[in-house]
Amino acid sequence: MNQKGCPEHKVMALLSNAMRKDTTYEKVLSAMCTRPHPVAVKAHMQFIESNMGDFGLFQGTKELEEKVIKMMGEMLGDKNACGYITTGGTESNIQALRTARNLCNKEHPNVVVPASAHFSFDKIADLLRIEIRKAALDSEFKVDMESAEALIDDNTIALVGIAGSTEFGQIDPVDKLAELALSNNLFLHVDAAFGGFVIPFLGRKYDFDFSVKGVTSITADPHKMGMSTIPAGGLLFREEACLLPLEIDTPYLTIRKQHSLTGTRSGGAVAAAYAIMMHLGMEGYREIVGRCMKMTCRLVEGAKELGVEPLIDPVMNIVALDVPELDEVRKQLRAKGWTTSITRSPRAMRLIIMPHLREDVLELFISDLGAILKKI
Ligand code: PLP
Repeated sequence: MNQKGCPEHKVMALLSNAMRKDTTYEKVLSAMCTRPHPVAVKAHMQFIESNMGDFGLFQGTKELEEKVIKMMGEMLGDKNACGYITTGGTESNIQALRTARNLCNKEHPNVVVPASAHFSFDKIADLLRIEIRKAALDSEFKVDMESAEALIDDNTIALVGIAGSTEFGQIDPVDKLAELALSNNLFLHVDAAFGGFVIPFLGRKYDFDFSVKGVTSITADPHKMGMSTIPAGGLLFREEACLLPLEIDTPYLTIRKQHSLTGTRSGGAVAAAYAIMMHLGMEGYREIVGRCMKMTCRLVEGAKELGVEPLIDPVMNIVALDVPELDEVRKQLRAKGWTTSITRSPRAMRLIIMPHLREDVLELFISDLGAILKKI
């Protein structure tokens, strides 16, 4: 740090220079976050000083958080669900399995997750000293129930289902996982970090949330398809008792106990999530998801016209395309400004059709992809 401070206009110029190196979302087809809605940004700025780590000082923001959790509970099948706004899907998954571990009191606990689980579960293995057992997937990239059942033993404490898998956007058979969980007396966590703000707004109904008996907890992130600001994840439990194993005493704060993983926690992100959910309502989200799904269908149609097939018919706004010469095609797309990503097994081009994508930009992508494939 310099001894003498720098005038504001110079600092702002430094920031602008740094920002020029950032990628704007326009041609990004690899991200699960998006440009936050202006209403969320406004709310975040209004509550920029608020710290939910010591919410005794910020009772108004605490009330907003309770309202967000209630709205999310209603959206996810249980208006009485409880929980809090986390920093994202990773924290929510950690905390859900921390609860499961603390409630079960096993010396060598293990958790059965689908092979499609997000890498946050590998962090959990390391942090919580839980063995993560990966069940095979079926031909549609959903968890294979026989494989999941075979991995359960006396030390299993929980099952995990994914509702909107990171790579394929697939939804596991949560109802069947719930039957398995109930018959083995296991905790069932549903990771709907991405799908939580998509699946309730699809034309088709899926059983993936608290409406399924046996689902204990759900991750669903306002900072992904919820159109809110970063950092905002949601962790919901069916039972209030599930928050107790997370509590620790906080003797020198204005509150007596805290159950979040982080200490200091953004009240801005809480206000933003509240504001955008109030502003959009179910109808607003339905419209956003509808538009993303329309573009997703157009992308698949355009790809098929180029002779490229999706690995599965998209369930939500995530597409895995079986593109030949994948690395070379992605490199050439990158040279034209497109950011794409990959699925691991099988390797395919992974594209996420987020609200920041415009219809004319999508057409340009299809045309660029076609031109590259023609030359290969
Ligand atoms: N779970 C799923 C299914 C995800 O797709 C992601 C992120 O892509 C996460 C968890 C982790 O979320 P975050 O990056 O907000 O911690």
